[in-house]
Amino acid sequence: MVSEGVQDYCDWCFGALTEAARARSRWLGLATEDAWACGNCLTAGRYREPPDGWSGPEEEWLARDEYVLSGDDLLAIVNALNEVLHGPDAIEEWEFQSRLGVTRAEAFQTMRRIGGRGIA
Ligand SMILES: [Zn+2]
Repeated sequence: MVSEGVQDYCDWCFGALTEAARARSRWLGLATEDAWACGNCLTAGRYREPPDGWSGPEEEWLARDEYVLSGDDLLAIVNALNEVLHGPDAIEEWEFQSRLGVTRAEAFQTMRRIGGRGIA
C-alpha cells in the first residue's frame, strides 16, 4: 500500500512502518534497494536476508552479516577517507573524531590498510 509515494509497510512482514523504522531503514541503506523494515524486523535482524521479491543474488544483499566488500566498495572507502584526510575540504584535527568517530591517525591507518590491498 503506497500513499503519497511513500511506502508505509514493511517488506518483510508487511506490518506498518513508523517514522523511526523508516529513518533506520534509510540509515542502513535498505532504502537504496527500495526496501523498508519495520521496528520488529529491524530488532529481529530479518533485514539481513533479502525480502521476497528482491531480484539480486542473495550473496549481494547489502545488509548481510557477511557482506564482502567488492573492489569498488574498497575504492570508494579509500577515496572517501583520502578526501576527509587530505582533500581540499579535509576535516580538521579538532573536529575529526567528533565527526568521524575515530581519530585522524586511526582513519589514516584504516586507509593505509585497505589501500594496501592494491586498491588506491
Ligand atoms: Zn516487519
